[in-house]
Amino acid sequence: MTHFQRIQPPRNDLGEGMMVIRALPTRHQRTVGAWCFLDHIGPVDFPADRGMHVGAHPHIGLQTFTWLIEGTIHHRDSLGNDMIIRPGEVNLMTAGHGISHTEDSPEHGQRLHAAQLWIALPADQHDCPPAFEHHAALPAWSEYGARFTLLAGKFGDRQSPAGVRSPLIGLDIVADSNASLTLPLNPAFEYGLLPLVGEVEVASQRLDQDEFAYIPAGQASLSLTLPAGHRALLLGGEPLQDELIMWWNFVGFSKDTIRSAQTEWEQGSARFGQIGDDSARRLVAPPLPW
Ligand code: MN
Repeated sequence: MTHFQRIQPPRNDLGEGMMVIRALPTRHQRTVGAWCFLDHIGPVDFPADRGMHVGAHPHIGLQTFTWLIEGTIHHRDSLGNDMIIRPGEVNLMTAGHGISHTEDSPEHGQRLHAAQLWIALPADQHDCPPAFEHHAALPAWSEYGARFTLLAGKFGDRQSPAGVRSPLIGLDIVADSNASLTLPLNPAFEYGLLPLVGEVEVASQRLDQDEFAYIPAGQASLSLTLPAGHRALLLGGEPLQDELIMWWNFVGFSKDTIRSAQTEWEQGSARFGQIGDDSARRLVAPPLPW
């Protein structure tokens, strides 16, 4: 029987009815493999004159992985990328040494439902040049009454095109009918499971929507039961060996790395480039905790 730990992630109201569940990091579990951030956003129905608008902000040391369930997001970054992302597609942005971007609802009055994920870059690639990938399609298949989409990594013979830099997996699972499945696990990986729509049964125990199951390494399979229409996100990876430091939008392996990124963002350094004509509202970093 698969053993797991049940975590209740905090719920934050960002206004406009936008509820966000932060499943990673929490004080119970900071990372799952290199996955170091997981926000479950919405679903939210914005009023006719409102939408999501995240001003220009920097990142270092990570990859951002945006996975939309409903709605669209307009992404612009300091590498010159300017595009709308839609459900089923993925944007993978590698911050490395430094990047900045904005995220906006292209139209107001939309419904938005998304998972925002970050992946920590390994220590030897932490400072790599920034990069951006858009994938219009990912491996998707139906089995055991569920539809699977492989967001990242390898599952059986399938391989996601997303260019991640460490051994990990991301799998989206939606039940078409009442689905009972047993997924093979890699015993070298730890896993996390977040029900995004409705509850699921994990190893014969009920896990409510937005409860997070942390599944330690060393296990060979996972049994799941999902009622029709219910949906869950499975993340996994080799447990990180180095201690990761996360502050605001920065990820690194030393406080000095984070401190210099923060100072350079405050000074408007060229490190983070500029987005379009540089007219986007800039987000201000909160003061460092040390
Ligand atoms: Mn961002």
